[in-house]
Amino acid sequence: MTLLDYRLPENGLAGSFIGGAWHRPADGRTLPVENPSRRVVICRVGRGTGIEVNLAVQAARAALPAWRALAASERGRLLAELGRRLEENAEEVARVLAAESGNAIKTQSRGEAMGAAGVLKYYGGVAVEQKGETLPLGPGLFSYSTREPHGVVGSIIPWNSPLQLGCVKISMALATGNCLVLKPAEDAPLAILKLAELADGLFPPGVFNVVTGLGEEAGAALAHHSGVDKVSFTGSSEVGRLIGHAAADRIAKLTLELGGKSPTIVFPDAIADGRLDATAQQIANAMRFARQGQSCTAGSRLFVHRGIWDDLMPKVAERSSALNVGDALDPDVDMGAVVNAERYAEIRAFVAEAEAKGATFLIGGTPEEDPAGFTPNPTILTGVDNSWRIAREEVFGPVMVAIPFETEEEAIRMANDTHYGLAAFLFTRDVSRITRLTRAIDAGWIQVNQGGGQIPGMSYGGTKQSGTGSEYSIEGALEAYTYRKCVTINIESAA
Ligand code: NAD
Repeated sequence: MTLLDYRLPENGLAGSFIGGAWHRPADGRTLPVENPSRRVVICRVGRGTGIEVNLAVQAARAALPAWRALAASERGRLLAELGRRLEENAEEVARVLAAESGNAIKTQSRGEAMGAAGVLKYYGGVAVEQKGETLPLGPGLFSYSTREPHGVVGSIIPWNSPLQLGCVKISMALATGNCLVLKPAEDAPLAILKLAELADGLFPPGVFNVVTGLGEEAGAALAHHSGVDKVSFTGSSEVGRLIGHAAADRIAKLTLELGGKSPTIVFPDAIADGRLDATAQQIANAMRFARQGQSCTAGSRLFVHRGIWDDLMPKVAERSSALNVGDALDPDVDMGAVVNAERYAEIRAFVAEAEAKGATFLIGGTPEEDPAGFTPNPTILTGVDNSWRIAREEVFGPVMVAIPFETEEEAIRMANDTHYGLAAFLFTRDVSRITRLTRAIDAGWIQVNQGGGQIPGMSYGGTKQSGTGSEYSIEGALEAYTYRKCVTINIESAA
């Protein structure tokens, strides 16, 4: 298969979705989208630039007065309807996702399509919760606050779970009365274009716009556009810093969801009473091996109490290497491909460097140099110090380092010895230890005795250099996508 077996709208295939219509780039230039499992180009999309971004921002500004005036319940109804349409088309969308992102259809892309529909339906339901407060300022004064949208939101998202992240951005912006210009990643824009196709005719023109293109062209133009009131970025900390500077120059509002190097800490009681297999499985899940480790929340630094090292590590190795690695569209494959040649080479370099420094492979190895598909095997390295690059920087590949510890204090110190603060995983059944450690560890999201994914309704976001602001909840949307307007009425003189 060299082309996707589905059809985007004829013009949309090479274009962006602006003002409710499909739009080809002014200069006719396109970008290839490659299937990383097979290393073949499956589609070409428009290489939008500042021209398209400008058109999309203008369309969003024109749509804003009517959209923000619409009843929140009606905005919610439209989001929920998009969720329903996505659910109806989930299998087709999942195939697109698997083909462009390399995330296995069996374990990842089907779940992402349904999860993204769940996000739209959640925000569809809670959109009416955009409530204000009344203030007791005394007799003769009536004062109240309302939640107002910032205006036009520019969102930029990565390729690792493009549909899920796109639906979070759409939902949070539109539910709260903002209009949106969304720039998907150049590696994986197709599921978002498919979503735009499903949304075609649903929202008033200009409320939801998509501009495809390169980060340094379309992305930078969006981050710097004076007509964008709020920038919401998910991606690497490196690009997050550039976006932060761009927003600061004009005091635009900002949400940053950035990288992580999340610790998983395991105490002896986590494998007692027949829990060894279940804990080993959850550790592998937390590492997100089944999505090639390409997850911001991956528990990629495993700290294991020395007393259980010899029992636990062989089981973690067994569970992690049981994944069937291969073509993301193969219905029997558990773990697919790394997204592109550049990422693959970076992962390879990280592992080769650790190997050269003397690390030992518990499973896996240095990925081969020029593979038929970018499908490295799950890799667990031991004999690594927490100060090494592989233990400090985000590899964003199926590579976990495992380090033993003796005391709780040592585990906390190593867990917090990082500039990231996104997620953490803790395995113990001791409730007082759970409360001590969850307080002590610097992370926006701590899971205890499980390695699951985000659920709509939770407030999810990072601390330290993992970002600012939170997503997935109505609180997060109100804090990040609205401002409080306070109104004070002198009732005596108004009467
Ligand atoms: P990236 O930062 O390279 O790219 C993300 C997006 O930014 C893409 O759309 C890209 O085109 C755009 N971009 C690149 N350069 C730009 C520039 N100069 N100006 C404006 N936009 C620009 O990240 P990636 O490699 O696509 O994704 C992986 C990263 O995303 C990892 O660090 C991962 O941890 C992070 N991530 C974070 C979360 C979270 O919720 N915290 C979720 C998913 C991924």
